Amino acid sequence: MGKLRTLYAILILLYLSFTLILKNNLFDFLVKNKIREETKNVSWVQKYGIPVLCYHHVISDMNEAKSLFHLQKSKFKEQIKWLKENGFSTISLEDFSKYLNNEPVLLPEKPVLITFDDGRKNFFRNARDILNEVDYKAVLFVYPGPIEKGHSYFLSWSELELLKNEGHEIQSHAYSHPNLSKLSAAEQNAEIMTSKEIIEKKLNIKVNWLAYPFGVYNHTTVNELKKENFKGAFTVFTSGNFAGEEKYSLKRTLILRDMSINDLAHKIMTVRLPLDNPTPSAGSVVVNEQTIRLNLPKQLIKENMRVEMGSDFVNSNQQISFSYNENTGLMQVDIKRITKRYLVITVSYNDGIGTYMQNSIMYNYGGWIPLS
Ligand SMILES: [Zn+2]
Repeated sequence: MGKLRTLYAILILLYLSFTLILKNNLFDFLVKNKIREETKNVSWVQKYGIPVLCYHHVISDMNEAKSLFHLQKSKFKEQIKWLKENGFSTISLEDFSKYLNNEPVLLPEKPVLITFDDGRKNFFRNARDILNEVDYKAVLFVYPGPIEKGHSYFLSWSELELLKNEGHEIQSHAYSHPNLSKLSAAEQNAEIMTSKEIIEKKLNIKVNWLAYPFGVYNHTTVNELKKENFKGAFTVFTSGNFAGEEKYSLKRTLILRDMSINDLAHKIMTVRLPLDNPTPSAGSVVVNEQTIRLNLPKQLIKENMRVEMGSDFVNSNQQISFSYNENTGLMQVDIKRITKRYLVITVSYNDGIGTYMQNSIMYNYGGWIPLS
């Protein structure tokens, strides 16, 4: 009996330490031990997290392609086909939430969330059939402002009802698609709660997930979401999502016009470089030149790092200088005054065996006028 119990205890300890290493510290595990090749048996989710793809428009006529957010229907079809052929399965927000909260949940080997922002009509015309054909369920983040006005570019309540009945999920993108960080706490709360109440009432569903309009938010937004018991909120910072993830800065990979299948595969399957506590905080608005501080793992080799800065999400290829303190892990990056909508900072690390990256830092210049 005594021997069995000891053996049992040892097994549990081994299991726990192994799980902890893989779940919380995969980067350290890989980089410090230089054993990327020996981690083949790690599950896909443990390695890459759960990817969340962020689509906007799917269009059939390239003349409509006005911005980076307009994706051709044939390209969309190709991407969905690639996901299907490579074994990806869409999961529900409920299962996603359980995974984030470390609750028991049975996930497919390669789970993915396919999300659409803004609730545009072209989802109905161009994306719906392609998804339904392979039994993929999307999550649509809509804002009721223009729907209430019957705006023809937006999905109507009856179309959303139909999509709901087909198994797609509908959640909130605020009420009028504002830059939340410019609003007071009361105004932010009104945007969040008016949207929630209208969508819940119109579609008879529960709304407790938000996609930040423009990906922009601040501490007040997070406080309001916590107060209103939201289960999570999505940014547009690229990475997979891991168990224990900060739930009000969930990661999503933006899918843009010029992205190839290779780009998509690369974005989904890059091991995440831990980047914590950015100051100013990720998602906030910056206007003037300033120093951005980030926490990276300690004891990394500065020569293996690259910091790139861009003003869109596709080509962040302007390399910029930075400092890194290997004893504290503090990285400092001086940025210039930006005049574009976005500032994307991509930090990558290559240890000679693999590349780890995160572009989770995005700042929005304060001068963008909302779409609606
Ligand atoms: Zn949007």
